[in-house]
Formats: sequence, structure tokens, C-alpha cells
Amino acid sequence: MRKEDRGERCKRLFNTQKSAFDVLEESDGDAIENLSSSYKDFIDSSKTERECVENSRGMAEQWGFRPYQTGMAIKAGDKLYTEDNNKNIILAVIGKNSLADGLRIVASHCDSPRLDLKPNPLYEEDGQAFFKTHYYGGVKKYQWLAMPLELRGVAAKRDGTVVDIQVGADPYDPVLVISDLLPHLSADAYKKTIGEGFTGESMNALLGIKPDPEEGDDRVKLAVMSWLYEKYGIIEEDFRTAELSLVPALNARDVGFDRSMIGAYGHDDRCCSFAGLQAILETEQPQNTAVCVLTDKEEIGSEGVSGMISSHFDTFIGDLCRTQGVELNHCYAKSLCLSGDVCNAYDPNYPDVHDKRNNAKIGYGLGVFKYTGRAGKAGSSDASCETMARTRRLLDKAKVKWQVGELGKVDQGGGGTIAMFIARRNIEVVDVGIPVLSMHAPFEVIAKVDLFMCYKAYYALFNEV
Ligand code: MN
Ligand code: MN
Repeated sequence: MRKEDRGERCKRLFNTQKSAFDVLEESDGDAIENLSSSYKDFIDSSKTERECVENSRGMAEQWGFRPYQTGMAIKAGDKLYTEDNNKNIILAVIGKNSLADGLRIVASHCDSPRLDLKPNPLYEEDGQAFFKTHYYGGVKKYQWLAMPLELRGVAAKRDGTVVDIQVGADPYDPVLVISDLLPHLSADAYKKTIGEGFTGESMNALLGIKPDPEEGDDRVKLAVMSWLYEKYGIIEEDFRTAELSLVPALNARDVGFDRSMIGAYGHDDRCCSFAGLQAILETEQPQNTAVCVLTDKEEIGSEGVSGMISSHFDTFIGDLCRTQGVELNHCYAKSLCLSGDVCNAYDPNYPDVHDKRNNAKIGYGLGVFKYTGRAGKAGSSDASCETMARTRRLLDKAKVKWQVGELGKVDQGGGGTIAMFIARRNIEVVDVGIPVLSMHAPFEVIAKVDLFMCYKAYYALFNEV
């Protein structure tokens, strides 16, 4: 027998990372561009969780999904969805197997960091009208200054009717902006830490300077309120019962001379949401019931009735189980969930905070995280190696290019996902998502090829036999 040479031995024994581009198949090019193009359309019209849920519902209905009614009879191949508070949506395709054999779940969140308006947002100071904001999720405040912002959301009027409000999405719309201090007068500001220099209370968005023609106090504020009343029929009191957010007035763009990446607001975590959604829309007659969850409130801890901690998920799955005479807990115990969330991409501009041997790289495929958390893995669900192995086999079989990841260097910081709330239900779960550069910035960057691998992974889970 011929002796193996060193090169062959290294190939057999070493784990060498390859760019996802090196393992693509001929036909993948078109598939990647088509998926990316649909994603860009989706994300531009889904800048809040409500919009994301509404657009997902629209797509689901086009693909034959029906709203689930409590107690309705179900059979294999049925496509159902259920919503809660217009802020989360769960889609399911009923499998051939009994629910006692468990679910195949992809769960991701559709809220993103942003600037919410305070309950009493509108005021006038020195001839300028402003909205006061309260940031939502982890934002580096300076990134949101001198940045064109759109207003998106809803306001409920006294009689309970809800109006949609959207200013800035149309290219002819005006935008709003929070001013930044000019460098010429920043001598004192430069001496402060970033945390001291940029405070939440100074995040006030400029709305207008033109006074109402009639004499009196607050003429600019009156002009702004009159404009809002004319356009949306709302009065100042209605802000107290509104959910209005300022989001970047930036649409998704190809990034790089090679157009290999997408820059956009809200990749975290609408890219995994979209991949999961697209994968379940295309799922017909799965072996096990496929479930795609787009949940809210992850960025502030998954609390609230629309967050992953809410029992909405259990109510829906419990209902489905009852129709088959299956115990919910038994169904959960046999289930597998890929918790879809973006992960930190290794950034050569900031090597000090990354471990390049263990951090996911943009363009190297789907990131698989055994654990997230902080310090000694605190706040992480830490998937078992058997779950990792099961995921590995699933991904390899589906020819998904994947890589492992960790959230930066040990003790540099950290973060969590919804995985731990899935795990609390005794569902096997592992974090599987797309590496992102500039996470939580107004313009985050992902690779198209990683989005494609994510979609392939989720499709493989739903259609596992
Ligand atoms: Mn996330
Ligand atoms: Mn996040």
C-alpha cells in the first residue's frame, strides 16, 4: 500500500476553513442573487416588527397558508399561521408524522434596535420642534446622529382605531435627523468617554422650524402638530397610545465592488427571519411538523406578550397537539430547534476583541454557536455535543457550508439569543445564524452567500426525513 504523503495526511486530519465561494455549485450563483433580491425588498418594507409580521403574513397567504382557528381539524400538509398582537407570527406545515415525534423549528426575532418615541415626545425649544426618543435595544448612540431617519409605526386614537404612520420611506418624503456636535466645538466633548459624551436624553430628533402663522406660544410645535393632524388625524394625546419608532432612512444596498454583500438596517435579525420564512413557504408535506417562529422583543430580553417568553407559542403548539391527542411536553421533548440569530463576524479592523480561530467569518457560511452568553458562558443555553453532532450531520447532508463561532474574545462582552427560552421548554436547540459586520449599527453588513447557506440549512431542517 502506498504511504500517504504529508499533504494528504494534513487534508485528512486538519480542519481547514474554506470560503463559502470555494464550495459553491454552478447553479448557486443565480439562486443566491434571487434570494438576495427578494430579501432586499423584504427588509426595506419591514423596518419594524409589525411591518415584518404583516409582510410575512402577506407572503404566507400567497403560498397557501391559512390563519389557524382554535380547535380546527388538521391533516398532513396543512399550512397554518397564527399571530399575536400583530408583532409575532408562527407558521406551521403539518407533518406526516404525529406531533408525538416532535417539531422541526426555526425561531428568530424580527425586532431590531431603534429609537422609539417617548410617550410625550413633542416639544419646541428655541424655535425648533423635536421628538424626544428612548432607544430600544443595544445602540451605540453616536451612530444614530447626523443620520437620515424615517418615522414608522402606529398610533391608536381615543376611539381605539389604529393608524399607520410612515414618513421617510418614499424618496420624495422628508426625513428626520438628530444633530451632532460640530468638531470645531468639540474640545470638551473629546475629553469624555463615549458613554458620557452621548446620552440617551440628548437623542432628540429635529422635526421643523417653520412657525404657525398665528401669534402665540409654541408656534413651531403647533405647525408640526397641525401637519400630523392633517395627514394622520392624530392629536398630541395620541402619542401616549402610539408605538412610533425612528429607523434609518437607508435602504438595502449591495456592498463591495463584487456585490457580494448586502448592507441594510435590521439584518439582526430579519435576515434569519427571512431565511426561515422563505424555507417554510417552500416546505410541502414534511415528515415532521415544520414550525417557523418570528418573535418580538429579543433586543430587550424576549419579555412581553409578543416575546419568546410569552406562552403564545405553547398555546398554539398545545392546541395542535390536543387535536392529535399528544401531550405538549412529549412533543417538545422530541423536537429540534435551530435558533436563528445573526452572529458577530470576525472583523480584521478590530482584532483585539475577536478570537480569529473561533469567530465566524463573513462569507464563510452559516455560523453555528454551541453557546453564546458572557463571562463563563453565563446566560447561554449551551447546546449538548449530541445536538451539535445532529446539527452537523443535517448541515453536511444538505451541503450547507457552515463554520463554528463564538461571541468574541473571552471576557470582552457577550450577548444572548432566544435559544435559552426555547431550551426552557425542553426543546433541543442550537444557535445557527448569519455572521454580520457592524451589528446593531444603522447599516449592518452580511454576505449574500451566508444568507443562502442559512436558507438552505433551515430548509434542510424542515424537510429532514
Ligand atoms: Mn439578534
Ligand atoms: Mn441584536
